[in-house]
Amino acid sequence: MPSPTIAIVGAGLSGLACARALAKAGRPFTIYEAADGVGGRVRSDKVDGFTLDRGFQVLLPAYPEARRVLDYEGLHLKPLYRGANVYFKNSLHRLADPFHHPLDALMNLRDTFIPWRDKWHTLMLWKEAAGTMGIERRLPEMETEDYLRDFGFTEAMLDRFFRPFFGGVFLEKDLRTSARMFFFLYAMFRNGGATIPAHGIQAIPDQLAVALPPGSLKLNTPVTSVRKNEITLETGEIIRADHIVLAVSEDVAHRLLPDTGVEKPKPGRSTTCLYFSTDQALPSESILYLDGDNRGPVNNACVLTNASPKLAPKGQHLISTSIVGAPSSNELEDVVREQMTRWFGPGARQWKHLRTYQIRNAQPESRQLVLGDSALSTVLEPGLYRCGDYVEDVSINGALISGRKAAEAVLGSMG
Ligand SMILES: Cc1cc2nc3c(=O)[nH]c(=O)nc-3n(C[C@H](O)[C@H](O)[C@H](O)COP(=O)(O)OP(=O)(O)OC[C@H]3O[C@@H](n4cnc5c(N)ncnc54)[C@H](O)[C@@H]3O)c2cc1C
Repeated sequence: MPSPTIAIVGAGLSGLACARALAKAGRPFTIYEAADGVGGRVRSDKVDGFTLDRGFQVLLPAYPEARRVLDYEGLHLKPLYRGANVYFKNSLHRLADPFHHPLDALMNLRDTFIPWRDKWHTLMLWKEAAGTMGIERRLPEMETEDYLRDFGFTEAMLDRFFRPFFGGVFLEKDLRTSARMFFFLYAMFRNGGATIPAHGIQAIPDQLAVALPPGSLKLNTPVTSVRKNEITLETGEIIRADHIVLAVSEDVAHRLLPDTGVEKPKPGRSTTCLYFSTDQALPSESILYLDGDNRGPVNNACVLTNASPKLAPKGQHLISTSIVGAPSSNELEDVVREQMTRWFGPGARQWKHLRTYQIRNAQPESRQLVLGDSALSTVLEPGLYRCGDYVEDVSINGALISGRKAAEAVLGSMG
């Protein structure tokens, strides 16, 4: 009897994680991917010798699933400074993690831009997040902003640190994202900091793809519709499969399968990232700069080559500047440059603009607001499965978990 056939639609992290688990179990499959490369929302481009990620993105090495699935050594992860430089009222203030940068923390003890009460509550939150390894579902389902206020943090701390820092992570600055997500991510930052792969974020999906069995990945192959045991390619070709895993984003899943319980999603969250380069001297730390005034447009910036010089030609710096949302303005580049002169000095006026990425639907909205008591169901109907960040939680970790769970469901139904 021929072995059952498996088709995966999408080679983002969730599709690749699903493929990886199937390959480990010795089950053959084919992945159909619309784009010209793997990675989905985790991709990088080469531009004039620079490596530009499609949107500023970090890997938190404490992510439990990422630790299981990825070979961190192979990714050559480069840590970012644990803390931030916050631009507030015309000057930069250093916030340093006292456990990793005790001297910096000591030197900034007298800086009252963060009230004493908040320094104390930060230590308490630090303690509370110690053993967290996943989404903390014992926490009440509430907005992050309310959670932080209830915890005792002042409005000053919310505005000067949490709003720009987690606003950049959630891609919304009202902090209405579920406190369960906040607490998980806070614990991940606490337990392992943030890193970038030395050669760009694309190294993550590339590492997963390299282990796929030969011939199992079909790029430039968009799927136009999905039915039980059948997918239709853009070319009109119909592929029959005993098991179909839909590993696309929430909006595409809804488009491909409007009647199978995939709800019509709310519009997703957007971000805009402008990359600049310079050969002039810049501060040398791999630290995140934050907009503590919340005046924008840039919410956070980083000299990426301070973490990994490999991202640029020799002697060049690569600077990423990130905006929450997708503003439409012809003057955006000029306004960003002007803001960066306040953060980095007048030299920013001479920075060379490399590229602007405007990423709509960077993150799904609904799964961020309410995480519920469990992930969404993986099995839509017998033989039809789904995975993706919107099924689990919106992160690299969530996408990897959901892919593995979809593979487990397929393997389970095969006995
Ligand atoms: C700018 C940005 C910054 C982020 N920052 C972070 C961060 O710092 N840390 C973190 O943990 N997470 C971050 N995330 C979230 C994280 O990247 C995502 O949660 C994760 O990559 C989602 O993976 P996925 O497989 O669920 O979906 P996707 O990556 O969207 O994969 C879906 C795949 O399906 C393919 N596809 C779509 N339509 C079709 C079709 N019709 N036929 C065939 N294939 C199709 C797509 O091309 C894509 O490859 C960020 C995301 C973005 C965009």
